[in-house]
Amino acid sequence: MGGNAEYFASPQTVGELVELLRYCNQQHLEYTIFGIGSNVLFSDYPNANKMYISLKELLQFEVKENRWFVSAGIPMAMLALAGELIQSEDFQFTHLLPGSLGAGIYMNAKYYQGQIGDVISRVYYLDMAEPNLEVQCIPVEECQYGYKRSLFQDKPWIIVGADISVEGYPLLSQPEIESILERYMLMKDNKSNLMQFYTFFSGEMKRLTQPNTPTFIQEIEEYRAKNKHFVHHSCGSYFKNNYDIGKSIGALVDHLQMKGTGSGGAMISPHHGNMLINVNDATSEDIIHLQMVISEAIFKEYGFIPEPEVQIIK
Ligand SMILES: Cc1cc2nc3c(=O)[nH]c(=O)nc-3n(C[C@H](O)[C@H](O)[C@H](O)COP(=O)(O)OP(=O)(O)OC[C@H]3O[C@@H](n4cnc5c(N)ncnc54)[C@H](O)[C@@H]3O)c2cc1C
Repeated sequence: MGGNAEYFASPQTVGELVELLRYCNQQHLEYTIFGIGSNVLFSDYPNANKMYISLKELLQFEVKENRWFVSAGIPMAMLALAGELIQSEDFQFTHLLPGSLGAGIYMNAKYYQGQIGDVISRVYYLDMAEPNLEVQCIPVEECQYGYKRSLFQDKPWIIVGADISVEGYPLLSQPEIESILERYMLMKDNKSNLMQFYTFFSGEMKRLTQPNTPTFIQEIEEYRAKNKHFVHHSCGSYFKNNYDIGKSIGALVDHLQMKGTGSGGAMISPHHGNMLINVNDATSEDIIHLQMVISEAIFKEYGFIPEPEVQIIK
């Protein structure tokens, strides 16, 4: 969704990314960083003086002793597959969790009890305030993780990868994870397509685990299917939950009987009150209008304005 950008790039290495950022600086071009784009809303009228940089082609998965180095563009769902290969349950929560690891680190993506901040040990990043643009690193203890919060949201940093500790587990086979990655790369320009994402990761998981698919993996499949997460394009949960209220935003929208409300080509999902779906060539304006409608209704009934989780990129 959104308009066509004048400048778009998806570097494949950190070297290419650094070169691109230097180019932007020299040319006085603004830039914005994103991953697969599953949690952002692009403006219908993109900034013509801006480079839109997706890191979804930054794809590196290196098996080291007791740890994996995983680059920012690797889909989080790849961790669940890697976990199955070493018979670890620690990464199952990432099964069918859309988005890149870099964004997951930035947003502290979570599902049920699992969150990205709990499985990484060190994050590698570029500090845009430093002119030399050298890769730096920070241990997870200093990343200030909380519910959908991290230090990265307050810093001009670009996450390029992370270490994941797998101490005590068997060594992951590098050729095996690489062959999955090669199949993933065949998706080419469809890496941001939710339906293709589902088909790929659900299929790979079945291939690895059937007929003994772990219960939690089956539950994730059922939950995402029941809520029709991969039928229409969406940004997932639009608002962050407000835990002071004691009910999820989805439940509040449901209580207000707003599910199914439309605006242009967009609609509040009939299956999940916190999901705004693109049913018919929606514009970003359509989605933002629904955001306003929900915010107003929640404010009127519950006295607070819900905070969007989705980032609007101008
Ligand atoms: C159907 C559906 C279901 C979802 N379910 C869940 C869920 O269960 N739990 C959950 O937590 N989320 C969920 N999401 C949201 C989404 O999966 C996560 O927010 C994910 O982290 C977004 O990844 P992305 O690569 O698409 O990020 P993008 O949308 O591309 O970017 C999101 C933000 O991260 C920043 N960012 C991205 N990459 C980097 C980087 N390398 N360095 C610095 N900043 C960066 C961007 O600037 C932007 O602000 C769902 C989304 C969809 C569409």
